[in-house]
Amino acid sequence: MSTLKAVFLLFFLGGSLISLVIFIRLIQKKMSLKRAFLFMLVFGCFSLIVFYPYRSRIRGYYHRIQNKIELPKHTAMNCNCESLEVTKDSYPNQHRPLAIRFTKNGFIKDEATLTNFLLRKRLVVVDEADGYYIQNLTSSTKHLTPIAKKRLEELAFLFRSFLKDSKNEKDYFVISSMTRTETQQDEIRRKYPNSATPGKSTHSFGVSFDISRVNSTGACDVAKQALIKALNQMRDEKKILLCPEFKCIHVTVVN
Ligand SMILES: [Zn+2]
Repeated sequence: MSTLKAVFLLFFLGGSLISLVIFIRLIQKKMSLKRAFLFMLVFGCFSLIVFYPYRSRIRGYYHRIQNKIELPKHTAMNCNCESLEVTKDSYPNQHRPLAIRFTKNGFIKDEATLTNFLLRKRLVVVDEADGYYIQNLTSSTKHLTPIAKKRLEELAFLFRSFLKDSKNEKDYFVISSMTRTETQQDEIRRKYPNSATPGKSTHSFGVSFDISRVNSTGACDVAKQALIKALNQMRDEKKILLCPEFKCIHVTVVN
């Protein structure tokens, strides 16, 4: 069980017990209504303080329930993206300069810049939606610029549209990395010195995400072809750039 679920369960049980005790005492007239209200208010404020750090995950759960998003089943097949045939757009000549220009050099140097960008809505939180799933991120966070988020949703919608009425219609592509501060990027460079590109990463501008695999309930080939078709179509529309990397496809939103 995750920490959030355990804390929520604890609060749910605690809250129910407190409400029951207050209710009984109210009936027995051993407590005034004002006092009962005060107790509930204190409990409510305390809950808010405890759950505040989990707000983005709670928002994610709410979003999933509201949109009836079905998360990929564990029995689904993993089609990895290693063999996806996608033409490479030059990283130093296209990905990086266009990311810098597109974000007006919105480089996310550290945690403080990230927080500042979130407050100013230069970055927004990204949650799972139909067609894509974000795996547990270790060296990056679920944030993108508002337009990059829109393009990701567009890509997922397009991907799903190519799978309509097939066994693959509930397939998801999986995102393995999203926005990284310079500190997180350095961490990755230390871990994988051979695979990291030198210089600033487009992940540190909030316009890139990596697709590592497709979670499929149908045929792997069909899922991969749909993904390639969606990626190519959006590249042709000059909205994204692509770069096949070690075990993933790196996508940079440029328009
Ligand atoms: Zn990448």
